[in-house]
Amino acid sequence: MDVSVFGTGYVGLAQAAALADVGHRVLCVDIDEKKIQQLRKAVPPIQEPGLSALIDNNLREGRLSFSTRSDDAVTHGQLIFIALGTPADEDGSADLRRVLCVAREVVRHMEVDRTLVIKSTVPVGTAARVLETAREALVELGKGHLKVRVVSNPEFLMEGNAVNDCARPDRIIVGSEDEVARSQLAELYAPFCHNHDKLIFMDNRSAELTKYAANAMLVTRISLMNELANLAKQVGADIESVRKGIGSDPRIGFHYIHPGCGFGGSCSPKDLRSLLHTCHMNGFQLRLLRAVHEVNEEQRQVLFRKLQKHYPDGLEGKSIAVWGLAFKPDTDDMREAPIRYLLEALWHEGATVRAFDPEAMSECRRLYGYRDDLVLCATRDDTVQDADALVICTEWKAFRVVDFEFLASKLRDRLVIDGRNLYNPEQVTAAGLHYQGIGLPRIVPLVSAS
Ligand code: NAD
Repeated sequence: MDVSVFGTGYVGLAQAAALADVGHRVLCVDIDEKKIQQLRKAVPPIQEPGLSALIDNNLREGRLSFSTRSDDAVTHGQLIFIALGTPADEDGSADLRRVLCVAREVVRHMEVDRTLVIKSTVPVGTAARVLETAREALVELGKGHLKVRVVSNPEFLMEGNAVNDCARPDRIIVGSEDEVARSQLAELYAPFCHNHDKLIFMDNRSAELTKYAANAMLVTRISLMNELANLAKQVGADIESVRKGIGSDPRIGFHYIHPGCGFGGSCSPKDLRSLLHTCHMNGFQLRLLRAVHEVNEEQRQVLFRKLQKHYPDGLEGKSIAVWGLAFKPDTDDMREAPIRYLLEALWHEGATVRAFDPEAMSECRRLYGYRDDLVLCATRDDTVQDADALVICTEWKAFRVVDFEFLASKLRDRLVIDGRNLYNPEQVTAAGLHYQGIGLPRIVPLVSAS
């Protein structure tokens, strides 16, 4: 099929590449000219495993192309995907201006019927709004005889696994009551259902809510686990034992129950705020999710609070090594990453940060620029040269195996704060380090700290 995709971010690019790879002809459009120029050379603007190769192959095969022209996209695609950002406004509501603007743009160039497929995460009722906007614009432009259909097809990919998630989705939600649109989407996704049917059809509103409900379920698990971790510390229990104990219950499972320094990223916090806003607008109190949000706001401060407690005289002049800047492994995305709260708090107190991340160094530089209190180090081990303490913020594989004797010989205050519970506390403390994880009992180091 001929498909156009508006927006070449994580969702648009990964989806476009996956669709092209099964044989569809996909044209991607973005307003960012630099991005498009790079993409034409198969250079993606984001770090996602496998994405570069997939784009390269499909560009060569002529199934994938890139443009800045929306008229080209409307002429090309019988299906037009909308994969634009829907950032949170100040009141938490999703900003739909880009989505509505593209809907009008599509109508402006439409000469035949078109189907809009909303991939962006949008509040319940958005498809109806897009349809109304498009129909009004068609009438205004004297093209009332043309038909526009709107499908809600939310995306569930995880950054760091975006290509795989799009190429091998667990399920494909198609929200539409229009039979033609349903059969178009069934044809589009048929190559992804070869093994078994993954399509779940429903109405637009239910599809829109499904996306928020999935995110809400996941972040609830995280916040609950973080609260239990804080309780475990208080009562002298070990949250890692508790995690193993509950995760092995098949009704619970091991996903999304790792205690940590709060959830972040471009989606979870914003989608939670947006859902709370939807509740508010509908006079409905989702009390549980308000608590999930509040717990996360506090949990984002947990690493800084631990440092503050360790340094009661303040952090001014301290040099803090940081491992991990991305909000999760296998991505360079730092949007709402918990580390940002730590960095800003440390700088506010007069500390210097020596940081390393396998992918997010350029993104960190882009966000914070050159400043005396931020040293971006070439390797993980460089960060601890001339540092007082080490904080681990992202659970990259590259941080899993560590020479603790080396750390103990370098860190002036021999302090390791582990926001992801990566290490065995006994092993770390045996090297003479003070080790603090999330929800772990305190163990006194065998070798006293200097
Ligand atoms: P993004 O910010 O990475 O990318 C959006 C892209 O759209 C940018 O390249 C931007 O230049 C482009 N753009 C903006 N206005 C445009 C216009 N008028 N025409 C063409 N292009 C335009 O966003 P993303 O992370 O891919 O997310 C897109 C949507 O998908 C959001 O609603 C998000 O909540 C949702 N989502 C994201 C993820 C994720 O992990 N990132 C997962 C599931 C759903």
